Amino acid sequence: MSSKPTQILQSVFGYPEFRGQQEAVIEHALARRDALVLMPTGGGKSLCYQIPALCMDGVTIVISPLIALMQNQVEALKQLGVAAAALNSSHAMQEQRAVLNALTNGELKLLYIAPERLFANGFLDFLESLNIALFAIDEAHCVSQWGHDFRPEYLRLSVLHDRFPNVPRLALTATADSPTQKDIIERLNLHYGTVYKSGFDRPNIQYHLIEKKNGFSQFLDFIQNNHPDDAGIIYCLSRKKVETVAAKLQEKGFRALPYHAGLSNEVRAKNQERFIKEEGIIVVATVAFGMGIDKPDVRYVAHLDLPKNLEAYYQETGRAGRDGLAATAWLAFGHQDIIKIQQLLGGNSTPEQQKIEQQKFSSLLYYCETLDCRRRILLDYFGETLEEDCGNCDNCLSPPEIQDGTEAAQMALSCIYRTGQIFGSGHIIDVLMGADTDKIKRANHDNLPVYGKGTFYTRPEWQTLIRQLLSLAYISADTEGYGSLSLNEKCRALLKGQEVFSVRKFSRNRKKQKVKSEITLSTDADTALFHRLKALRLDLAKSQNIPPYVIFHDRTLIEITTNKPANLTEFGELAGVGAVKKEKYGPVFLELLNSE
Ligand code: ADP
Ligand code: ZN
Repeated sequence: MSSKPTQILQSVFGYPEFRGQQEAVIEHALARRDALVLMPTGGGKSLCYQIPALCMDGVTIVISPLIALMQNQVEALKQLGVAAAALNSSHAMQEQRAVLNALTNGELKLLYIAPERLFANGFLDFLESLNIALFAIDEAHCVSQWGHDFRPEYLRLSVLHDRFPNVPRLALTATADSPTQKDIIERLNLHYGTVYKSGFDRPNIQYHLIEKKNGFSQFLDFIQNNHPDDAGIIYCLSRKKVETVAAKLQEKGFRALPYHAGLSNEVRAKNQERFIKEEGIIVVATVAFGMGIDKPDVRYVAHLDLPKNLEAYYQETGRAGRDGLAATAWLAFGHQDIIKIQQLLGGNSTPEQQKIEQQKFSSLLYYCETLDCRRRILLDYFGETLEEDCGNCDNCLSPPEIQDGTEAAQMALSCIYRTGQIFGSGHIIDVLMGADTDKIKRANHDNLPVYGKGTFYTRPEWQTLIRQLLSLAYISADTEGYGSLSLNEKCRALLKGQEVFSVRKFSRNRKKQKVKSEITLSTDADTALFHRLKALRLDLAKSQNIPPYVIFHDRTLIEITTNKPANLTEFGELAGVGAVKKEKYGPVFLELLNSE
């Protein structure tokens, strides 16, 4: 291949080399052929069409459903000196006219456009009058009803194939299982295209799960110790909880903002904007937050409540660490959550759908309870095999101590059975612990052989054991009433003593585990310098009203910190510094370094 793409990568974007499949996709597009590109979030999909756009004559049309994202991409490209613009309904008439003029005059290399604008009156005819290099269809899973974010206007994109048969099309997405992939190919008519798939692993994300006790103080502990100044996202199940968690964090001095569907559009837009344009903002949100945000330096994603399934979990946690630097996915899970989500899953869907949702939820629970490498379970779920344990999840970093819980499990099962499978965990534990309650007396449960036999565990330990039995589907909880527990077929072998039940050793005095996922610089002086560079970047960003990461990523600031370039030439050699940014920002950053 000509060296042009590599030259552009280095001179415009300032990156030394391509990542993963990027080069192959770019070469393919330059050969004017269609492709479906599957890359995880942060994998570098944008370069796959931005570089061909800069290599080819004419304009590349990028179709994207996410207006906020579009705006950021255009800003980022302008910073690199690339002629890019966006067209969507949020723009004023005059602005739109200027863009159309620039298109007619062949002045743009990239145009970002929302699908509804693409199909608005006569726009396709107008496009036919232009020299179009390439169509990039971003978030291509939106074309599929199997995907989780179907958008009807995406269906009409098949028309591109008919009206522009000679213009290559790249469809890109981060989330598409096999039925969705097939659907995208069908609906966009990419039959003669190639599918490029990258591995879905995000090695820089550390997965960290804990048993929920008091979720909020555990979370507080986690950020105070690991991410005191970092930007992060916290997911909660309800709007009410979002509000209380945000308020409590504010009380503790964190800049936390709520985000949920119950807030006005105005407030939501403002909070999202602050998250993007300021540093170190925490957004506490329901799942409504995150789509279309490509802030690269989100250092953690925390779940204070369980997500619905592993797809949702992987997508939400995938918003951490897009810049490739260390990030944490933190989750607290507890027994009550399991029942709460199961109740939600029961809602408005057919029995068939409910069954699928339950199965998916079980896979999530299995992930939560596993004593093995978490990443292995996650990737396995998405059809990939990890050759070795990852070394970057809680179970790898401090392998859980395991104890034999067979006898205790049998005792709990027997207690559930003998009390008639109509009681929740509270009463079951009361019986095991030999408590003196009215309920026990009324039901004569103090006469049962298991009564008072369980004092070798504490109540929380029994809660944990019962949660494990639930998660691993030995027992079920009634989701309509009060969470009464009943036995499943699966527990037969365990009751008969044909199976061993291993449990995580209870953490009576477990020492606190430090999450090792901070960005660390080798000396305090470097850390201080890094913070000064960040402050300078924020000033520069504010004066242009753009997000700080559009100027330089943290990774580039780290490069500046550790390499301490002495002049503009050395500055230009750092990763993330292209020709335009070198001229534009080099002098001010050098000035700061010289004043040290
Ligand atoms: P995606 O759209 O796949 O989520 P992006 O295209 O936003 O990912 O890329 C993620 C980040 O990685 C961006 O900040 C981008 O600048 C950076 N990046 C992409 N390709 C490279 C590369 N070859 N070398 C270094 N950084 C890269
Ligand atoms: Zn692991």
